[in-house]
Amino acid sequence: METADVVIIGGGIVGLTVAFHLAKAGAGKVVLCERNALGSGTSALSGAMCGQQAELTDTISRLAVRALETYENFADRVGGNPGFFNHGILGLASNLENAQARAADARRNGSDARALTADETLTFFPEVNAEGFGASILYPRTGCVDAYHTMHAYAAQARRLGADLREFTPVARIDAQKGRIQAVHTPQGAISPGRVVLACGPWSHKVAHSAGLHLPIETTQVGVSFYRQPPDFFERPPVLSAELAIIPWHNKHFRVLRDTRKPLVRVEPDPADAVCPQWMVEHTTEVIQHRLPKMRRGRFQGAYQTCYDDTPDLRPLLGFVPEIENLFLDCGWSGRGFKFSVALGEYNAKWILEGKTELDLAPWLASRFRLLGS
Ligand SMILES: Cc1cc2nc3c(=O)[nH]c(=O)nc-3n(C[C@H](O)[C@H](O)[C@H](O)COP(=O)(O)OP(=O)(O)OC[C@H]3O[C@@H](n4cnc5c(N)ncnc54)[C@H](O)[C@@H]3O)c2cc1C
Repeated sequence: METADVVIIGGGIVGLTVAFHLAKAGAGKVVLCERNALGSGTSALSGAMCGQQAELTDTISRLAVRALETYENFADRVGGNPGFFNHGILGLASNLENAQARAADARRNGSDARALTADETLTFFPEVNAEGFGASILYPRTGCVDAYHTMHAYAAQARRLGADLREFTPVARIDAQKGRIQAVHTPQGAISPGRVVLACGPWSHKVAHSAGLHLPIETTQVGVSFYRQPPDFFERPPVLSAELAIIPWHNKHFRVLRDTRKPLVRVEPDPADAVCPQWMVEHTTEVIQHRLPKMRRGRFQGAYQTCYDDTPDLRPLLGFVPEIENLFLDCGWSGRGFKFSVALGEYNAKWILEGKTELDLAPWLASRFRLLGS
């Protein structure tokens, strides 16, 4: 049987960042199996924003700042161009006191967040209608990247460093015996792995099931609508976070994200068609036209539906699985995995190789759930 030091299952942003950093760390034979083309899962549909609001712990807040630093120094740290739109993120807030408290909290860990009064908000972004909000928080340095450019930059560099990235190589099952994954089965044959990284996003629980594990991941609905700006387009618009996220996109477009948390709606990650429901499109249209009135002369250009991989507490499943010693989980990232996988890839590669991490990631550890036989 073929052998490999590490087999990564899934070629989205999570799998690709880990593959790059493992190869860079000299991890030996690193094989990544992707059932389709690289970057064809949910990462390709991501907003890929790198917001820097205060997080659950200081460690997690600093990771968000680290993602931004990676994007800013991408050519040196990774190689290539992530297509960074660093026009800032502007989050509307109920009042100045609230905005100041949140900005101060974020700044403690290196974010450059600052609170703006209602007047300052309009000075920064004159086209916004901030009705109903008394202030805002501005994250001036950050924004979003092009998800495809970023993933393919990681893929190119991982390959250059010797990682074997195999497209159209679905993993049918992983065999667990004696507390270890003994074989990873693909149509091209089985691989006997030293370690396995499960990075299949919303498909992770299906693969884990073949090893007798139950991952508490639900796949939940999110819609993305695209709008062309009118001819008198916006100059350097920031990402606007109000009722929904309005994200500047290539060639004078915006994308508007609409998830359904209340109530949470479950959808299949492989739908027969990925058409966005009409009510979602009506909502995104209403919000973009209300918050950016100039967009009443813009043009709706299509929408699709995709999903998040949600755990019960909306936090990822990260780290080695106590029940299967050579299986590392890196999934369940819900709507926040793009920036965190960019920030974490190097730490995770070290963790996978050395069996422990220097970061305190307690809230994210997979071991907080009982995964075997539930
Ligand atoms: C609409 C939307 C907006 C988002 N916005 C943001 C944002 O602004 N900022 C942010 O940080 N995060 C955001 N996220 C979250 C982020 O995009 C995801 O957390 C992240 O992309 C997940 O990456 P992944 O590699 O785990 O999953 P995926 O990209 O889904 O990759 C999993 C891969 O596994 C492959 N696979 C599945 N089954 C198998 C198998 N059996 N064998 C081999 N391969 C298999 C799939 O084909 C897929 O390519 C957003 C997500 C969505 C959906």
